[in-house]
Amino acid sequence: MPELPEVETVRAGLARELVGKKVKAAPVSDGRSTRRHPSAKDFRALLEGRTVKSVERLGKYLACALDNGSHLVIHLGMTGQLLKAKNAKVPKPKHTHVVLQLSSNEEIRFADQRTFGEMFVSLPVGEGEEVPISRFARLAIGGNGLNLRSRVRELAHLGLDPFEDQVGWDRFVAITRSRHVPLKALLTDQEILSGLGNIYADEVLFSAGLRYDRPCDELTTVEARRLHRTIPEVLSEAIKAGGTTLSDEMFVDLEGAPGRYQNQLQVHTREGEPCPQCRTPIERVVFRDRSTYFCPRCQS
Ligand SMILES: [Zn+2]
Repeated sequence: MPELPEVETVRAGLARELVGKKVKAAPVSDGRSTRRHPSAKDFRALLEGRTVKSVERLGKYLACALDNGSHLVIHLGMTGQLLKAKNAKVPKPKHTHVVLQLSSNEEIRFADQRTFGEMFVSLPVGEGEEVPISRFARLAIGGNGLNLRSRVRELAHLGLDPFEDQVGWDRFVAITRSRHVPLKALLTDQEILSGLGNIYADEVLFSAGLRYDRPCDELTTVEARRLHRTIPEVLSEAIKAGGTTLSDEMFVDLEGAPGRYQNQLQVHTREGEPCPQCRTPIERVVFRDRSTYFCPRCQS
């Protein structure tokens, strides 16, 4: 499933390709991808003729601001891909469900094999409308996140984004102490922290030297500070590498190119391989139905 670095890679591509262009038409061939709207026709009516002003990201969501104050929101789900094509003649990939036909004649195709992803148009927040912003997000002391949540009500529930929301280590420590759940569950709970999933939670925990099943409220201040520092460090490296494309997954950027961070993964998918720090074989366990990888010696 695409996580923050993959979604950020797509965001950067979309910002290059979409900003300043008008969506001439947006035909939908599988209504499951636009399921928040009563019909594909409703979705199209809200989007067609609009020019894209900017492309932002929060957690695993993309939000394209339109020239009338609405936002086109995109979530890639498990297998969603956004692919650019020079024009309509370029053959469409399998499972293309929505096409954004641009004023430049280029197209952005949304393909999604398993259809857990979606696209919808979020109408402007009305004057006096209360947007219920998540209580964790309200701990942010800076960044673009609160502003975006206040404009796009469907994103208001998202927890702190490691880049779009600034939160000092003291508040981060307080968050770890406000719950009694295993660390990996805290890191991947999108209503507390948004953007981390199975891959990067494993990588962050390895870099911070912490085990996935440590109760998060039992971390020392030093450990929680280390975790707070490690999250953006690991994610930044992954963004630089264009995200992770695993053998069983289908993440590609707008040009169709896979990420390169799979070559830099320290523990995730590395069961039995020597730990990069201490040479102990990496272990794999099933935690909440997903594989978790860790070094039994470096992580405590
Ligand atoms: Zn180790």
